[in-house]
Amino acid sequence: MTTSTSTRADVAFQRCISPHCEATYGVDEVLTACPACGQLLDVAYDPDQLNLPKSLSFFEKKWSQRTDPLAFSGVWRFHELLPFASREKIVTIGEGQTLLQQADSVAKFTDMLPGNLYLQYEGMNPSGSFKDNGMAAAFSHAHSVGAKRAACASTGNTSASLAAFCSVTGLMKAIIFVGAGKIAYGKLSQALDYGALTVAIAGDFDDAMLRVKEVSKQLGIYLVNSVNPFRLEGQKTIMYRILEALQWEVPDWIVVPGGNLGNSSSFGKAFAELYEWGLIDRIPRLAVINAQGANTLYELYERRGLRWNGGSPNQQIIDDYYTELDRDHKRASTIASAIEINRPVNLMKCLRALETCRGVVREIHDQEILDAKAQVGAGGFGCEPASAASVAGVKLLRQQGVIQKDEKVVCILTGHLLKDPTATVAYHGTDQDQFNKVLGSRGVKRAGFANRAVQVANNLEEIVRSIQMYS
Ligand SMILES: *Cc1c(COP(=O)(O)O)cnc(C)c1O
Ligand SMILES: [Zn+2]
Repeated sequence: MTTSTSTRADVAFQRCISPHCEATYGVDEVLTACPACGQLLDVAYDPDQLNLPKSLSFFEKKWSQRTDPLAFSGVWRFHELLPFASREKIVTIGEGQTLLQQADSVAKFTDMLPGNLYLQYEGMNPSGSFKDNGMAAAFSHAHSVGAKRAACASTGNTSASLAAFCSVTGLMKAIIFVGAGKIAYGKLSQALDYGALTVAIAGDFDDAMLRVKEVSKQLGIYLVNSVNPFRLEGQKTIMYRILEALQWEVPDWIVVPGGNLGNSSSFGKAFAELYEWGLIDRIPRLAVINAQGANTLYELYERRGLRWNGGSPNQQIIDDYYTELDRDHKRASTIASAIEINRPVNLMKCLRALETCRGVVREIHDQEILDAKAQVGAGGFGCEPASAASVAGVKLLRQQGVIQKDEKVVCILTGHLLKDPTATVAYHGTDQDQFNKVLGSRGVKRAGFANRAVQVANNLEEIVRSIQMYS
C-alpha cells in the first residue's frame, strides 16, 4: 500500500457539522465556520477514495521506515486516516513521539486496580504539549494554501506550538494573542524565545479569542485555533497512538481535561471514523473534566441537560447561560490556566463527541487538581495543572461509581510539568506568602502531597544529619 502523492481535493473536503446544513467546501478553502449557517466545519473524506488499511496493525510497519520524517512523525505515520494534505506540503517538527505509561501508584490514588490506569504523556511533544499534534496538521494546511503569517489566541500552549513550528521551519511568521498575565511562564518563555510576535491583550483568553478572529479576518492571516478543522485532524492521532500502545485494544474510558474542547471533539471524531471504517469494533467512553472555575461544559451538559440532539442542540440553554455569565461579570478562574476558558469554541463538536462516546462531564476544584498533579509527579513524569484534571476526574468518577476499578482507563496528560513551574513550586514550597498568592487566592487550602525542600545550614554535619533523618 502506498501513500498517494496527490490525494487531497479528490478525497478530502470540508463539511458543515450541522445535519440540517451539511454544506460542503473545498479542502483548500480557509474557513473557521460554515459561511452558510455559521456552524463549525469538519474535515471529511470520501469513503470511496480513502486508501484505508485492512487493519490498524498496518501502522506498526511504519516503524521500519523511520528515516522518512513522515513515518517518524506520530501524526503523519497515520496519514491514511487524515489524508487532506499532499505529501510534499506536509510539515513535521518531530511531533507525536509520546508515551503511554501504566501508572500503578496513580491507579491506587484514584482507587483503580493496578494495571488499569494509563497516562498518555502528550507533554513529551517538541513544544511540550499535545497542541503539536494539531499544529502539525493545521500548519501543513496553512502551508498548502500558501499562508505566510499564522495567528492564534492562546492560554499558552497553542502559541508555544505555533511559535515552534514557525521557528523550526522558517515557513511563516507567528502572531499570537494572549491575555496579559494569564499565561504561565514556561509557555510565555517559549513564544518569546521562538521569536513570535506576541500581543498581550488587557483581558483574558475569551477576549483574545474574539480579537484574533477579527484581526485575522481583517488582515487575511491564517488562524490556527481549534476552530480550524484541520487542527482537530492532527489531534485524532493521540487516540491512534493510545490504541497502538494498547496493541489495538480499545480501552473502556478516555479521560481528558476540557478547555476549548478541541481534544474531546477530535477524539470523538477519531473513534466515530474508525468505527465507521470498520477498523475498531467498539467505541470507548469519554469523560471531559472541567475546572470548577471554568465549568461551562459541566454546567450546560450535566446541570442544564444540553445535548447534541441529532445536531439540534437547544441554543436557548447556551444563550441563557452566556447572558448570565455576562450579567454576573463572571470570568473563568482556575490555577489550570490551559483550561481557563468560559466560552469553548468547540462546544457543538464536543456535544457530538459526548454522544458518540456516551460521555460524561465533571468539574474539579483546584485543590483536587493540584493534589492529583502531585501524585502524577510522584508516580511518573509529572504534568502541568490542567492535565491533572483528568486524574482528579477519574478519582471522582470512581467515588461516584461511574468508572469501575477493573475497567481500562487512559488519562490524557496534555502538557509538560515544566510549563508552569510557579504552580508547582508554590505547592511544594515552604513560602507561605507565595502559597497564598498563587494558590490560596484560588481557594486552595493545603498541599496534601507537598514535598518540601529541607532547609539546612551550609555545614557538613548538619547536612549529613538531615539526610539520615529524611531517607
Ligand atoms: C489546550 C490545553 C488544554 C485544553 O484542551 P482543549 O482541546 O482546548 O479542550 C488542556 N491542557 C493543556 C495543557 C492545554 O494546553
Ligand atoms: Zn452550515
